[in-house]
Amino acid sequence: MKHPNKKAPVGRHGAKRNASTHGDGRHRYCRKKGPDLEAIKQAIDPAAFFERELGVLNGCGPWRRARCCFHRPDRRPSLSVNVTSGAFRCFACGASGGDVIAFAMRLYEQTLPETIDRLGREWGVAR
Ligand SMILES: [Zn+2]
Repeated sequence: MKHPNKKAPVGRHGAKRNASTHGDGRHRYCRKKGPDLEAIKQAIDPAAFFERELGVLNGCGPWRRARCCFHRPDRRPSLSVNVTSGAFRCFACGASGGDVIAFAMRLYEQTLPETIDRLGREWGVAR
């Protein structure tokens, strides 16, 4: 029978308290003016956005078809939009982009800050 009998040294070393509080004095919320890009992207549902701008979306699955708003008249729905990611591509006029922000910039012919501001207002993103 082995009794290791290891007596753990219960030395009272006065556990080092990590009382350093560095970093707490920083400003956590370093807000820019207006809603930010990520907040806008979170707030906008691509499906709802495209339906609002394009009307009826044809098809099912993530990629839907609609009449292109970048070239007119578009007799057949040439524009494919992804209602999940917001990506879009028109095989007739070549308009394409990766998200609803790019779509909106192109549609409204505005700069990125203007578009963010506009979408923020329209989609109720808190400033
Ligand atoms: Zn087009």
